[in-house]
Amino acid sequence: MNPSDQPIPDITEAVQRTLDELGVRDAAQLGQLFSRLHQQLDQEVAQLQAEATEDAVEQLRVRWLGRKRGIVPAITDNWLAPAAPNLKREIGRRANALRTRVEERLRSLAEYKVKAEASIGTLQDGKPEVVLGIDVTLPGNRRPIGVRHILRQAIDEITKIFISLGYSVEEGPEIESVYYNFEALNIPEDHPSRDDQDTFYIDRQTVLRTHTSPVQIRTMEKRQPPIRIIVPGKVYRNETPDASHSWMFHQVEGLAVDTNITFADLKGTLDHFMKAFFGPQVRTRFRPSFFPFTEPSAEMDVSCIFCGGVGCRICKGSGWLELGGCGMVDPAVFAYVERPAMLKYGVQDIQQFFQGDIRFLHQFR
Ligand SMILES: [Zn+2]
Repeated sequence: MNPSDQPIPDITEAVQRTLDELGVRDAAQLGQLFSRLHQQLDQEVAQLQAEATEDAVEQLRVRWLGRKRGIVPAITDNWLAPAAPNLKREIGRRANALRTRVEERLRSLAEYKVKAEASIGTLQDGKPEVVLGIDVTLPGNRRPIGVRHILRQAIDEITKIFISLGYSVEEGPEIESVYYNFEALNIPEDHPSRDDQDTFYIDRQTVLRTHTSPVQIRTMEKRQPPIRIIVPGKVYRNETPDASHSWMFHQVEGLAVDTNITFADLKGTLDHFMKAFFGPQVRTRFRPSFFPFTEPSAEMDVSCIFCGGVGCRICKGSGWLELGGCGMVDPAVFAYVERPAMLKYGVQDIQQFFQGDIRFLHQFR
């Protein structure tokens, strides 16, 4: 019969046999033997902590380290001495580690005993105070530390800039009524964006919001001007995913309602924002445009952050990058989070934001 088919006896008796008799032939099996020894030691130490008398600690020392029948010396005699040459080094290393561990345990038991004796008499039943099974000398469990998602970082940075200008942050529901998402924003029933080709409908009256603008309406309904808000959040469009499109993305929208606000305030605010986000070297420009809920409306461009406006592949030679739209509702602005974040952090594919690949996310600590 193959010796390795025999169950290994009580681990403290196993040290009285040779590794050959135990059927142990490689480092992995050896590792299992030693980890059983470590467990055994920890068990015996834990049992002893309840009654750590001097005699009991001495008995433990003799049992593990005693020169005649101690477990660790038996390992040297019975495992190490007759072992195959390829295992000797490993056995020696592990036996030394075990010896060190036993010595550490005996030391901490002795210290523990001193503390326990000091506290005896203060407890009613005379038993020492016991913290069973906790070894403060063991290294702790290392837990991986996460990072804020790169889009969260971008949103936080954007909101921080607006908060410094006196804006507050507002949020609203992502499942929105057709009324708030379209009608209240002056988007008529026949407008192409209301088509279910472009919008996710929950039912005839409910959609996944296609922009953060409904929050403007909700805020204006419950608050009196002056209003200065910024609305970051997820929006949904029925898009086919590719490197620059996603069916879910993030917008940040701003709204300022006050007396004596002009288009110049809007331009100044956005120019300040772009310089704060991308750096003081960028320039902005505004092109006339159309949005159903602003009049007049403009597209906002920022000078290409890669070529400085000379023209390159990313800006398609124009020297400008389109970053959002704005206009006077009074006035409102909106911008997408993904686009500036892709530009600022050099992200090539929008899908990377949403795939949760830790290798990608960890680059942006
Ligand atoms: Zn460029």
